[in-house]
Formats: sequence, structure tokens, C-alpha cells
Amino acid sequence: MTESHSGKANIGVVGLAVMGSNLARNLASREGNTVAVYNRSWERTELLISEHPEAGFIASETIDDFVASLAKPRTAIIMVQAGKGTDAVISQLAERFEPGDIIVDGGNALFTDTIRREAEVRAKGINFVGAGISGGEEGALKGPSIMPGGSEEAYKTLGPILASIAAVAEGEPCVTHVGTDGAGHFVKMIHNGIEYADMQLIAEAYDILRQAGGYSPAEIAGIFEEWNKGDLESFLIEITAEVLKQVDAKTGKPFVDVVLDQAGSKGTGVWTVQTALNLGTPVSGIAEAVFARSLSSQATQRAAAAKAELPADATAWSVSDKAAFVEDVRRALYASKLVAYAQGFDAIRAGAKEYNWNINLGAVSKIWRGGCIIRAQFLNRIADAYDQNAELESLILDPYFKDAVAKSVKSWRNVVANASLAGIPVPAFASSLSYFDGLRGERLGAALVQGQRDFFGAHTYKRVDLPGTFHTLWSGDRTEVEQAPSTH
Ligand code: NAP
Repeated sequence: MTESHSGKANIGVVGLAVMGSNLARNLASREGNTVAVYNRSWERTELLISEHPEAGFIASETIDDFVASLAKPRTAIIMVQAGKGTDAVISQLAERFEPGDIIVDGGNALFTDTIRREAEVRAKGINFVGAGISGGEEGALKGPSIMPGGSEEAYKTLGPILASIAAVAEGEPCVTHVGTDGAGHFVKMIHNGIEYADMQLIAEAYDILRQAGGYSPAEIAGIFEEWNKGDLESFLIEITAEVLKQVDAKTGKPFVDVVLDQAGSKGTGVWTVQTALNLGTPVSGIAEAVFARSLSSQATQRAAAAKAELPADATAWSVSDKAAFVEDVRRALYASKLVAYAQGFDAIRAGAKEYNWNINLGAVSKIWRGGCIIRAQFLNRIADAYDQNAELESLILDPYFKDAVAKSVKSWRNVVANASLAGIPVPAFASSLSYFDGLRGERLGAALVQGQRDFFGAHTYKRVDLPGTFHTLWSGDRTEVEQAPSTH
């Protein structure tokens, strides 16, 4: 054990790859923290302590020494590869920790794994906290947004430590106790799902500005910089302008033109959509964003389609008033983004109901204002909306957002209609608009679906004018019979 400080550490970090080492350095830089560090292979630990002697880490070569270096209640944050790596480290710590100690998983775990792990670890009297941490490597070092789950008791010890390293937005640390067991990782998963939608919407706006507006990447960077001064102000818009400004050193071309157009993913978007499907909550904007990445990556299929010269029969989008066109795209982006966030918050509410979490949606929106990838001006408005009405049925119904949509909806329709006519793919813009129309529609085609279901499967239906459950004798005389109420 290499001790740079006398005494023991109040916090430890296991896993010293990019995220863990940056988080450990962040912790060490805050007043009052002494940080113990451990990594499976010593080389990483050695590198960290040699490069950062100022951090005063207590470094251990073995897990036993690491555990011995922690003051009670022992508190250790695991930042290792999600999945098996995390399970391995949890069991090593749980074997050595005592009741009242705290194990924190700061990796990107699936929330159902966190629920399972929490129950297993709690059975030994040890606290387990699944904490979503967003902000990438820079966030880990300078201040991430942190979404911890776990028990209230664990949060009493952990909360002040996490608050010391979290990003600060409008004077408040971007951390809150989200709820019990897997609530933190659930909310982090939804954060990432929203991030997928936000990125896809920005990419669609870029594509329209380029294809229909004829702007160059550098010009579009300028447009995004302008947008970043208003309602759309956000980290993602800011970095989009940076990426679009970049010129490839090898070819002199815009960077965006030399990057293969096949988007990768690490799975949290897929988890969000799968979870929302199970909860019966439409997250269509997020789903379209995930599918758009999937389509982009179908290289052989896309090559075959290009070779086949599939007919477009498109009508060119004639843009006469460029300023009005850009403003239409901006408004369509804003309205579609609102749908993505509304759907994400709906999914959090549905998850909270399903898993018995008491999640404060306003508090969640506040901790996303800083540190994380979706940090944005917009989140202040969402926080206001939930402050005014914690039971809001949908963010779109908040008076501020309702007004914003009212100002945008005509532009939104113009953009989606013209993009479709011009053959520009806008899956997230279009599905968000359809969701909006579905949400506000007084009568939906679902009535016919109920009729079809009753026809082929006797699935029954309800009437608009009478209580009870009904079935029509479709293969008989087509009279209607009332179903006896279920006794279950
Ligand atoms: P990583 O590449 O995901 O994992 C490497 C680390 O895991 C190394 O320290 C490695 O130890 C350790 N490890 C792997 N299997 C292990 C095992 N069986 N037992 C013990 N240790 C094991 O590291 P990372 O990129 O720093 O990410 C850490 C966590 O943060 C992951 O869960 C990741 O998903 C999450 N993450 C979050 C963000 C974010 O923005 N929030 C960004 C990136 C990553 P060795 O050195 O011995 O191989």
C-alpha cells in the first residue's frame, strides 16, 4: 500500500481506466477528501499515482489492502467495465465489507441489474448504490451530473461526497437522491435515450439545411452558433457547431464529409426503447433515433439500395426566403426536441410507478442542467414546469411549452412535409410531429384497431356511450353481446 496521507480514506475508487481515474482525481481535488484507489492490474494504478502525486491517493495493489485503507463506513465507487467486471468487483468488495458500508456502482449498468445487485448486497447489510454518472471523461474530472439510487441511509454519507464533485448549475450541485435501488441507473438510461433523440434531431436539422438550403458545413456551424444564443442553447448544439467547423487536415475537406456515415452506439438507447416498450410508454422520438443509427450502419443493404437506384420521385424544396426557411427548421427542431423530452419524462414517471420509486421529475431536470451531455437552457423551463405542477400529464401541456409549440407547429408541419416531398429522411422530426398529432387528437384510428381485434380474436371493446365490455358476433349474426364482468 502506498500511503501519501496519514490515516484512512473517506472514499475509494475501484477501476482506474479513463472514467475511474478522472473521477478519483476529481474527488481528490475537493477539500476534505482522501481517496483510496485500486485497479485489477497494478500498471494503471501506478500510472495514475505517478502522473498525479498532487492528488495524495492511497493506492493499493490488492483488494484487501484497498479495503483496509478505507475509513468506516467504507465507501467505494466502482468504475469498471459494465456487466461481468462490475459483478466481479461487487462480490470482491461484498466479501470484505461490513454492514453499513457502501458500494457504489458508477458505471453504465442496466437498472434491472442494479435492482438485483442491490437486493443481493443488502441481504448482507451492506448498502448498494447504483449511480448514473453522465458527462464523459471531462465530466468525471471536472464535474459530472450524478444520478444516485439506493437507500436514504447510504445517501446521508454519500450525498455530501457526490455533491462535492458534481457539476454546479445555477449554484446547485447536479446530484439528487433519485430513488431507491435501480432508480438512479433508470434515470441515467432515460437521459441517454433523450441524448440519442436530441442528437438525431440536430443531425436531421443539419441535413435539411445542407440538402434543401444549400448551406456549407461552415455556414451551418454559424447557424447553430446563432441558435445556441436562444431557446436551443445546449451543449449538444454548441459541439455540433464545433464539429461542423472542423476541417480535415488530410484533405482540406469539411471534417463531416470525410467521416463514414454509419453511427455507432453502446446500448443505452436500445435499453431505453426496450424498457419503454415493456412499460407501454411511447418514446417514438428516441426509438427513431436508435433505428436511424441502425439503418445508417446497414452498410451492405444501403450499398445494394444505392446500386439499385431506388426511385425517389422527389420534388425539390424550393427555398425562396432563406431566413424564413432557417427559422422554420429551428422551430421544428425545438418542437421535436420538446416531444423527445416529454416522452423521456413520461418514461421516468411510468418506471417510477412500475418499480415503486418516488422520483421528483423537477429535481431530475435540475440535475441535468449541468455536467451531462444533454445539459441545456431548456431544462430550466422543464424544472419550472414541474415546480408549478408536479402532476403535469405531459410536458407539452405546461403553459410555457404549449405556447412554444403553438408558435412552432406551422413551421414543424412545413419542414416535415417539404422534407418528405424532397426525399430527405427526417424520421425523428416526422415521428415527433405524428406523436403530437396523436396526443392532441380527439378521436384516433385506435377505435378501428379495437374493431379488428374483436373481429379476429374476440378481444372485446368498450363503447363510448355505455359502461361495460362488449363483443360482436362477427361470424354469427353480428349482434353485440355484453361480456360478464370478470370475477378476478
Ligand atoms: P472500461 O473500459 O469500461 O473498463 C475498464 C476498467 O474495468 C479497467 O479498470 C479494468 O481493469 C476494469 N475491469 C474490467 N473487467 C474487470 C474485472 N473482471 N475485474 C476487475 N476490473 C475489471 O472503463 P471506462 O471507459 O473508464 O468506463 C468505466 C465505467 O463507466 C463503465 O461502466 C462505462 O460504461 C462507464 N462510462 C461512463 C461514461 C459516462 O459518460 N458516464 C463514459 C464512459 C464510460 P484492468 O485495467 O485490470 O483491465
